[in-house]
Amino acid sequence: MKIAILGGGITGLTSAYYLAKDGHQVTILEKEKVLGGLASGFKSKNWNWYLERAYHHLFANDYDILNFAKEIDFDKIYFRSPETSSLFGNEIRLRSSSFDGQAMKQSNNFSVYPLDTPLDLLKFPLLGFIDKLRAGLVILFLKLSPFLSMYKKMTSEEFLKKNMGIKVWNTLWQQLFRGKFGKYAGIISSSFIWARIKKRTKGLGYVEGGFQIFISYLETTLKRLNVKTLKGYEVKNIEKRGEKFIIDGQTYDKIISTLPTPVMTKLTTNIFSPKYLSHFNKLKYLHAITLILETDKPILDKTYWLNICTEKIPFMILAQHTNFANKKNYNNNHLAYIGWYVDGDSKLLKMDKDELVKLVFPHLKKINPNCSIVSLFNSYMFKAPFAQPIFDQDFEKNMPTFKTPDKNFFIANLDMTYPYDRGTNYAVKLGKQVSEFI
Ligand SMILES: Cc1cc2nc3c(=O)[nH]c(=O)nc-3n(C[C@H](O)[C@H](O)[C@H](O)COP(=O)(O)OP(=O)(O)OC[C@H]3O[C@@H](n4cnc5c(N)ncnc54)[C@H](O)[C@@H]3O)c2cc1C
Repeated sequence: MKIAILGGGITGLTSAYYLAKDGHQVTILEKEKVLGGLASGFKSKNWNWYLERAYHHLFANDYDILNFAKEIDFDKIYFRSPETSSLFGNEIRLRSSSFDGQAMKQSNNFSVYPLDTPLDLLKFPLLGFIDKLRAGLVILFLKLSPFLSMYKKMTSEEFLKKNMGIKVWNTLWQQLFRGKFGKYAGIISSSFIWARIKKRTKGLGYVEGGFQIFISYLETTLKRLNVKTLKGYEVKNIEKRGEKFIIDGQTYDKIISTLPTPVMTKLTTNIFSPKYLSHFNKLKYLHAITLILETDKPILDKTYWLNICTEKIPFMILAQHTNFANKKNYNNNHLAYIGWYVDGDSKLLKMDKDELVKLVFPHLKKINPNCSIVSLFNSYMFKAPFAQPIFDQDFEKNMPTFKTPDKNFFIANLDMTYPYDRGTNYAVKLGKQVSEFI
């Protein structure tokens, strides 16, 4: 059978692998000049390793992608336990400014605390013992609990306030939700917080050479299976003739769309009814922006991942990649990601990378005062539309499913990882699952 896969991200590549192995004639149509979609990377001329456009790591329990890597004999995934922390501002009253060793840094009324293990939580000075005990027990409950229907009935805010208490919500969670979901922070289903806590592991995985090495390996494997890959090919029109689909004069028996739902919706108005597509128009998204700073000194001394839990810093994540992957792979320079999730009308989306650098630099000095001696060699900026679906309580009702009203058109995209936050692990899982419908 002739199958067109729309989108050459990890979902598209994985489904191509399974379909080609089953003997189908597969063509991948990818808009960008490189495969890999949201997980793709780039390489500056002095680097030995690729770097993802957006920070990427795996969790130790990402079994779908780990098993898939084994299946295709890819052995370059390794695990580390880098330091992850959260930064709090002085809107939270500090109980002690000279806490014994837990505060890694306290400057300009900002404090950084690790919050990775039960012991970290126990030592966390911004909450009292009873609040910490309560928070710890709820986290343990969520870790052990299977998915329960009650999670669908409450927002994360309601669930966390009710079970951990308002003080814990205000201190630990409120700013994390604001950073991740912006104006939608208050309507995120508690399914999300269940999935988030369930999945998190201290050990984080990375690919020797960057995720792009995994993607290139997969591309080579697909070539051997005679998969045709059209890169730099934006699908703009799909026609239906009888049971078949025509894209630019080429005929296909079946289509798998891995495109973001809003992109697919626009492309399929002559295939699907307005009623079917109207569900997708109800889904909400934020766009991701990443700014990468290549510097002579690290912005964070030891920490890999720093959640920004204060509105005084105008971004939500600072990830010092070279505290996770060795800087020797990047010409001994230090690489840090700054990240945002923004609404379609955000002024940040209109800024170029120099404007973003200007916006963030004064704040880096507040986070780490030594930062004033950092020289910026290079910066890179990437924007990913519709990269963060908003898991509100109606999301599940309106999200796409593998099968559509057209028996030859299938969907597998990152909306369908619900209740889990999107990830390469689920891209592999969805790619495999959708191939089983063909
Ligand atoms: C900021 C950020 C951080 C992340 N961090 C992690 C992480 O730490 N770990 C992790 O595992 N995952 C992470 N992810 C998620 C992960 O990258 C995605 O879940 C995964 O890559 C999705 O793969 P996909 O193939 O489903 O979608 P995509 O990668 O979005 O693939 C869809 C493809 O369709 C193409 N396309 C779009 N329109 C057209 C068109 N008209 N014609 C042809 N092609 C088109 C796109 O170019 C893209 O290549 C992160 C994502 C973001 C945005």
